[in-house]
Amino acid sequence: MTDLPPIERYAPHPTTLAGLEIRRLLPVRQRRLVGPWCFLDRYGPLTFGAGKPMDVAPHPHVGLQTVTWLLDGEVVHHDSLGCEGLIHPGELSLMTAGSGIAHAEETPNDNSGKLNGVQLWVALPDAHRQVAAHYERHTDLPLLELPGGRVEVIAGEVLGHRSPAMAYSPIFGGALTVEASMELPLDAGFEHALVVVGGDLSAEGQELERDTLYYMAPGRSELGLRSREGARAILIGGVPFGETILMWWNFVARTPEEIAAVREDWESHRRFGDVTAYNGPRIPAPELLHLRDPRKRE
Ligand code: MN
Repeated sequence: MTDLPPIERYAPHPTTLAGLEIRRLLPVRQRRLVGPWCFLDRYGPLTFGAGKPMDVAPHPHVGLQTVTWLLDGEVVHHDSLGCEGLIHPGELSLMTAGSGIAHAEETPNDNSGKLNGVQLWVALPDAHRQVAAHYERHTDLPLLELPGGRVEVIAGEVLGHRSPAMAYSPIFGGALTVEASMELPLDAGFEHALVVVGGDLSAEGQELERDTLYYMAPGRSELGLRSREGARAILIGGVPFGETILMWWNFVARTPEEIAAVREDWESHRRFGDVTAYNGPRIPAPELLHLRDPRKRE
């Protein structure tokens, strides 16, 4: 019998983002990365009457890609390049921040009264992290049909189904629908994490809690999933990143000096443009307290 390492469970961290209750699944203590994925926030499901449950004013990013994926509801993105992206469930909003961009994300005024989704970040490798910022919206992602369910391919590729999303390192991202028993093919060179976002799901006989990160080390070429009533889940993965990143606020960098310079650029209205489509003030950078230099950890 092949000895696979056990599936590791990491408890989510409840917090808020601009008044919206979220569960932060990545980074958490003892798990900072899954492949190049460095951040995973889970929000909803919620229903609302009036107002906008998501209203994140203009803020900057560098050194990463942001991925917005909805299970229910709508979100509209506006950025400092002048791009607008209204997305619905099954559509991908992908912003490559590279050397710098500012954006805002809101529930549009014309909405269904629902919000349910995830926000993820992908760290850019050193060779590409200064790339010019750009925005992509994809409304027609590839769908892999399998016995017992299907996979919408958000990033990377599975069995010849390749996402059109721009990627800078070996990566996978998929939205799973599981209706019975499903054998999910995996790239054995990747590490992966699975998050149940609705319904009931077990993996290799282990019942999984919702909104909880389940990590799998490289070495698996498939994963046996089973649902009794039907389930939805997010799978992320990639080759272990191999670079030590420094994450602070909305920035992914390498050194405290770099973080301080980028923060100063935001505070001084340099580097990042204005999000003119957003009606309201932008978010000031938090106070920069002491940052440990990741180069000095070894
Ligand atoms: Mn953002």
